[in-house]
Amino acid sequence: MNFTPFDRLNDKYDTIVIGSGLGGLTCANRLARAGHSVLLLEHHIQLGGLATWFKRGGHIFDVSLHGFPYGMVKTCKKYWSKEIRDSIVQLKNIVFDNPQFSLTTTFSKDDFIRLLEEKFLIKPSVVTEFFRTVDGMNFYDDRSMTTRELFDRFFPGRSDVHRLLMEPITYANGSTLDEPAITYGIVFSNFMNRGVYTFEGGTDRLIGMMADELQKNGVTICTGAKVDRIVVDNGKVRGVEVRGRMIQAPAVVSNSGITNTIDNLAGRDAFSDDFLSRFDRVKVNNSSCQVYFGIRRGEGFDDVGDLLFTSTAEEFSSEEMRKMDTKSRTFSVYYPKTRPDHPDYTVVASMNADFEDWAGLDEETYAREKEAMVERCFVDLERYIPGIRDKVDIIESATPKTFNRYTLHTRGTSFGTKFEGLDISRSIFKEIPGLFHVGSVGIIMSGWLGAINYGVIVANDVDAHLRG
Ligand SMILES: Cc1cc2nc3c(=O)[nH]c(=O)nc-3n(C[C@H](O)[C@H](O)[C@H](O)COP(=O)(O)OP(=O)(O)OC[C@H]3O[C@@H](n4cnc5c(N)ncnc54)[C@H](O)[C@@H]3O)c2cc1C
Repeated sequence: MNFTPFDRLNDKYDTIVIGSGLGGLTCANRLARAGHSVLLLEHHIQLGGLATWFKRGGHIFDVSLHGFPYGMVKTCKKYWSKEIRDSIVQLKNIVFDNPQFSLTTTFSKDDFIRLLEEKFLIKPSVVTEFFRTVDGMNFYDDRSMTTRELFDRFFPGRSDVHRLLMEPITYANGSTLDEPAITYGIVFSNFMNRGVYTFEGGTDRLIGMMADELQKNGVTICTGAKVDRIVVDNGKVRGVEVRGRMIQAPAVVSNSGITNTIDNLAGRDAFSDDFLSRFDRVKVNNSSCQVYFGIRRGEGFDDVGDLLFTSTAEEFSSEEMRKMDTKSRTFSVYYPKTRPDHPDYTVVASMNADFEDWAGLDEETYAREKEAMVERCFVDLERYIPGIRDKVDIIESATPKTFNRYTLHTRGTSFGTKFEGLDISRSIFKEIPGLFHVGSVGIIMSGWLGAINYGVIVANDVDAHLRG
């Protein structure tokens, strides 16, 4: 993709968006469509942030295209284009396999009701009431109930049911049983709407289509441009410093993590003590590890499902899922249908992980731990695809350090912040007029759908500020 070289940038824009994650891209697109001049600055050479891909040995590996809710259909049509919407397709075979149960599901409400009643033998009235409660949750609800309390209320002592309901959500946004039930309810209901979806053509095609759309709408895009500072003067945003140059704008939208935005880009001096005391309570979410397997051209395997939630741990535990030697991982299986123009078989194993476990290792131990992780994934994958070792020609792996390096996110966080981050992100422009934040916060604003929808919300705030 050809973007604008750094030395051709203007000295002034209406808005500067820092970062090209799905939230930043969407916000930039909306603002350009509203008639504002928009500069999008991305430190990496590629757009997309965590919605990314890489090429190795003739394979294309997707990093975060494992599944998103049906809501993406409407969101992409409304805020991007019909062409993007038309490539969204359902993943129909979601597999769970663990010591407590093995099953295949479409991960939709109807199918979950069937499973809960017929396989887990939960009374229909309890199932109905559970879904009624979860569907009815909204942001303004009482936030004192935790997900653990929610599950104990409906399914006391049923750790198998807790696992069915919670394990996928912990992978999807890092949440635990001890967080507000609302964070669980909103994300679970989104998926239960109609199941799990993917983008035909892969992440590269989606981001390419988004980049075309942005350029068509007049957004100036510059990659390899790491913003060093958001300039705040007399309590107002003036612009950014990037590669030793000041570019002015009355509105700056940071898609960098909220912790980076406040601690490093704007700097703590720009904020009031009251705001900082609230900000200091914000906890970032966990990170991830991944192992990518590319299958030699000409080889393949039978359909084993699209997304496999696997574990050999006796019971669900979000702590166990973050351990370096976790026994819990998802396998996303990509068949030739994923990229009809580039037919290929790849498998991506994903695990939740803590940055601290990996960041402090010396080089040799780090390399050894990565190898051990690859081997654990191989052993597990062989249970589903016998003989896979002989078919793989490329193996790559990523740890929290990798995610930190490519996105600059604090502790390589995969899903932004815990719940407290939402209030900080939503109120930053009241603290510093002209400074906005978009991107994964508060669990519910993360994931592909959450990030895009949040991009729209923040674009509306910026538009009001620029016109105000
Ligand atoms: C392993 C993994 C698997 C996932 N799987 C799924 C999934 O299956 N389904 C799903 O819905 N979600 C998934 N997610 C989550 C989803 O990818 C993210 O929530 C979403 O893409 C985040 O978008 P964002 O707008 O918050 O920005 P991010 O993607 O976090 O991007 C932020 C951007 O800002 C840039 N940036 C930061 N600082 C600067 C700076 N100073 N100057 C310039 N640029 C800067 C970064 O380089 C980056 O491009 C997954 C995430 C991970 C890590």
